[in-house]
Amino acid sequence: MASLVNGMSVDVEDWFQVGAFERVIDRADWDGLERRVEANTDAVLALFAEAGVRATFFTLGWVAVRHPRLIRRIADAGHEVASHGWDHRRVFTMAVAEFRADLARARGALEEAGGVAVTGYRAPSFSIDTRTPWAHAELAEAGYRYSSSVAPVAHDHYGWREAPRYGFRPLADSDLIEVPVTVAELAGRRLATGGGFFRLLPAAITDFAVRQVNRAGQPAMFYFHPWEIDPGQPRVARAPLRSRLRHYSRVGAMHGKLLGLLARHRWDRVDRAVGIA
Ligand SMILES: [Zn+2]
Repeated sequence: MASLVNGMSVDVEDWFQVGAFERVIDRADWDGLERRVEANTDAVLALFAEAGVRATFFTLGWVAVRHPRLIRRIADAGHEVASHGWDHRRVFTMAVAEFRADLARARGALEEAGGVAVTGYRAPSFSIDTRTPWAHAELAEAGYRYSSSVAPVAHDHYGWREAPRYGFRPLADSDLIEVPVTVAELAGRRLATGGGFFRLLPAAITDFAVRQVNRAGQPAMFYFHPWEIDPGQPRVARAPLRSRLRHYSRVGAMHGKLLGLLARHRWDRVDRAVGIA
C-alpha cells in the first residue's frame, strides 16, 4: 500500500509577529524592526528544494506587500501561496466585519504579489474555535476551499479541544474543508506536534503522530515558521521567560531535524494533500 501524502506548511511571519510577543511589541512599531522573513523564507525554499518537497506557505498580507518578489518566488517554485490573514490578529479578537475585511485585504496583497489564486487560509495562532462560530461561513462566502485553522488540543494560548482530529466539513451548505493541525493521541490524551512542539520535543513524537494519522487513512498536517530556523534573530528581552524559552530553544538544530522529517514521510502542498487540487 502506498503511504499517504501529508500536508506540509509554513506560516510566513517575522520573528516579531508571533503571538508570544504580542504584549511587548506593538504593531505600530513593526516597521522599525529588522525584517528577516525574506531571507529566512528563502532558506526554507532551499530546504524544500533540497528535499524535493512542495508545501503551502500561509503568508501574512503585511509580509506580501513588503516582499512581493518573495511571494512570486514561492509560487514560481511550485508551492501553494495561501493566506495567514493581514497582520496576525487572532480571529476571536475580531468582529465579523473586521474578519471579512482582514481576509479580503490579505488575499488581495497575496494574489497581487504571487499572480496566483489564493484558496487556503490558516488563522493566526489557530484562532478559530468555539468563540468564532461564524468564521467558517465567512471563509466559504469569500470563496476559500479549505481552512487549516483549528488546533484540536488544549493549550494555554489556543486550542479547541473537542474539535474533530481529522479533516471535516464544518458547514452543511458548503464544500469548505477544515483540516486541523495534526495531534498525536496517547493514552486518551491529545498532544500537539507542529511548530515549537516539533522543535522542542524529540522528532520521534511527530513521526509517531504522522504514522498514527496515516494508519487511520488520513493525511497529517504539519507546520513550522521561518524564524524557527534562524539562530541570528534579535532577542526580545522584555518577553516573559516562558515565551522566550519557547521561542529560542533548539532553533539551531531545526534545519537538520526538518530534513529528517521531510525524508521519512511523504509531503505535498496542503491543497493537494487534502485532494482539492
Ligand atoms: Zn502565525
